[in-house]
Amino acid sequence: MPMFVDTSPPGQCIFCRLVAGEIPAALVYEDALTIAFMDIGQVTPGHVLVATRRHAATLLDTTPEEAAAVMQTARRVALAVQAAFAPPGLTLLQANGALGGQTVAHFHMHVVPRHEADGITLSWPRKEPPAAVLAGYAERLRAAL
Ligand SMILES: [Zn+2]
Repeated sequence: MPMFVDTSPPGQCIFCRLVAGEIPAALVYEDALTIAFMDIGQVTPGHVLVATRRHAATLLDTTPEEAAAVMQTARRVALAVQAAFAPPGLTLLQANGALGGQTVAHFHMHVVPRHEADGITLSWPRKEPPAAVLAGYAERLRAAL
């Protein structure tokens, strides 16, 4: 389980306060829709968070423009991380909801430099259902789009 979970009301969360300049942060980049800053947890050196400027709790609460802007900023930051830290790997992580692993309910994406034996793990239990089951899932999603 994460060591830190922000349970502040919407608009008063730690990232909104950071955007407002009410708390200090090691800023990396900001534009009209996004802000990028060093994660205080620094899982590995160069670990950056890219967040929306506006409070949007999860991906589902973002506008298409905000979602696109966060990915564009994440790409830009990833290029800078590569240039500045030269990690042999890089992971982008974006979590939604407590069960999804989200600890601050303000949309953000982690840009994490990766190294051999860096201690980061992600369990990925493959289920491999039959093709007919997959087709049924796809049909449900096509109907929802
Ligand atoms: Zn917020």
